[in-house]
Amino acid sequence: MLDRPLPQPTDVSRPFWEACRRHELRVQRCQQCAALIHYPKVHCPADGCDRFDWALMSGKGTVYSFIVAQRGFHPFFKANLPYVVAVIELDEGPRMMSNVIGLDPDQVHIGMPVEVVFEDVNEEISLPKFRPVAAQAGAPLAGARS
Ligand code: ZN
Repeated sequence: MLDRPLPQPTDVSRPFWEACRRHELRVQRCQQCAALIHYPKVHCPADGCDRFDWALMSGKGTVYSFIVAQRGFHPFFKANLPYVVAVIELDEGPRMMSNVIGLDPDQVHIGMPVEVVFEDVNEEISLPKFRPVAAQAGAPLAGARS
């Protein structure tokens, strides 16, 4: 198995990653103005508030934008070419960058309905990825080779 670059949770982002580990997609929510914030920040961009809770997302969204990676600049990613890097607009509003998996990259399109699926990488990190809503539960994750 190839070493792969992985997120390094910080004090600010750790609640997000801990939720992912429980297979929950949670987004930082300002306790003052209720803005949903992603990526996690120290202060709310709207009002500077530094008190947050972590709102549970439905895990549903649509492909807002995407590219198909054809070149890998790290051995792990090179071994998984081609793959889709996408900005997912969650139904609740926030956008997050992720991968769309479980289908041929040529089939991905903007506006495609997707849902989150978690790839358990190790004891600390589960990566939130997205697959077409139509995909059968339990189908193998094409992007989850390791
Ligand atoms: Zn706020």
